[in-house]
Amino acid sequence: MEISEMDKPIGYGAFGVVWAVKDPRDGKQVALKKMPNVFHNLMSAKRVLRELKMLCYFNHENVLSAVDVLPPVDSPYEEMYVITQLMQTDLHKIIVSQQPLTTDHIRLFLYQILRGLKYLHAARILHRDVKPGNLLINSDCRLKICDFGLARLEEPDESKYMTQEVVTQYYRAPELLLGARHYNSSVDVWSVGCIFAELICRRILFQANSPVSQIDMIYKLLCDPNNTQPSARSMDRQTRTQLYKSVSRMPPPPSTFYHLAPTMTHESAHLLSRMLVWNPEKRVSCCEALRHVYLCDGRLRYHTSLCRCCFVTADGIRHASEQEFEPVPERTFNDAYESELRSVEDVRNAVTEFINSQPCGRKTPLRINTSSTVFPRFMASTVAQSQPVTVTSSRVA
Ligand SMILES: [Zn+2]
Repeated sequence: MEISEMDKPIGYGAFGVVWAVKDPRDGKQVALKKMPNVFHNLMSAKRVLRELKMLCYFNHENVLSAVDVLPPVDSPYEEMYVITQLMQTDLHKIIVSQQPLTTDHIRLFLYQILRGLKYLHAARILHRDVKPGNLLINSDCRLKICDFGLARLEEPDESKYMTQEVVTQYYRAPELLLGARHYNSSVDVWSVGCIFAELICRRILFQANSPVSQIDMIYKLLCDPNNTQPSARSMDRQTRTQLYKSVSRMPPPPSTFYHLAPTMTHESAHLLSRMLVWNPEKRVSCCEALRHVYLCDGRLRYHTSLCRCCFVTADGIRHASEQEFEPVPERTFNDAYESELRSVEDVRNAVTEFINSQPCGRKTPLRINTSSTVFPRFMASTVAQSQPVTVTSSRVA
């Protein structure tokens, strides 16, 4: 069957354009992601294949996954098309809107973000670009993490170089801003801490105009709340490095965050103080954060009205299976195939093989109708140019 009804472009991610389209098999609106210039170079080709494989691997309510992978429209092809669930809005649009955000909303959103990230981290996947715009939301408050264009597997070898050009600057952890060559899933937890504060304050917590100002702002809030020291920006590089090295390894006291918003409670400030920790080793993991008392209500609400794992009986809520409330994948994501990919042609063959191997189940295979009136406009839509992400070095994976 063919997709003819393409509504309009609804989003521009780091590496693709998303259109709302109608699935002709059931008439439902779904999202069609177009990934252009897939085979531009080896780096980008491997990255797209990785994203494609991840989308097909995911099976979690709070993580966006592939509904279908469509065959290419050209030969040889440069673009790929993936269909995912269509969500109504994202957290960025909600935060900047006039829509009220109650404590119940915040608990429910934060619970789902951490629930999805716990799953990703258990799969050994680092998202590396957690920000409000990558958290999709439906009107019933269901949340899904999306955009895996920058995601990669955790690197167990500490001597291996990992790119620092990840995560939109406002949500970037201090160790990344300070040029850490090696990092782990705690960079995502930092981003979630920033988003949690943003939900409470209704403004970006660390909104600086350069990486240096960014680290300066973080230092001021976490380490020098009384503003007793001169700005790090006025120091030379060596003094600044010394200053940042002297930062306490311990989490900041919850009182650090009290002044941020009148709605800040001790519980929310306490959880924030465990996520926004300068030292990544002392930052909580998603599992630990999920056990925090602040999230009890969010968990209850989620599993009472939104989840697919519980059901309600006359006696109250029942958990449907042996699974945990916050499940992890059965197996970790395997990227061993990447070592075999040495040229763009290798990746092209792997992508073709992957697309052809996709089981559609009992569903009728879909393809894009190239004679549809909207098709030329769809083909002409390109990714936004203003993305802060540039990945050029071939050392970077
Ligand atoms: Zn449940």
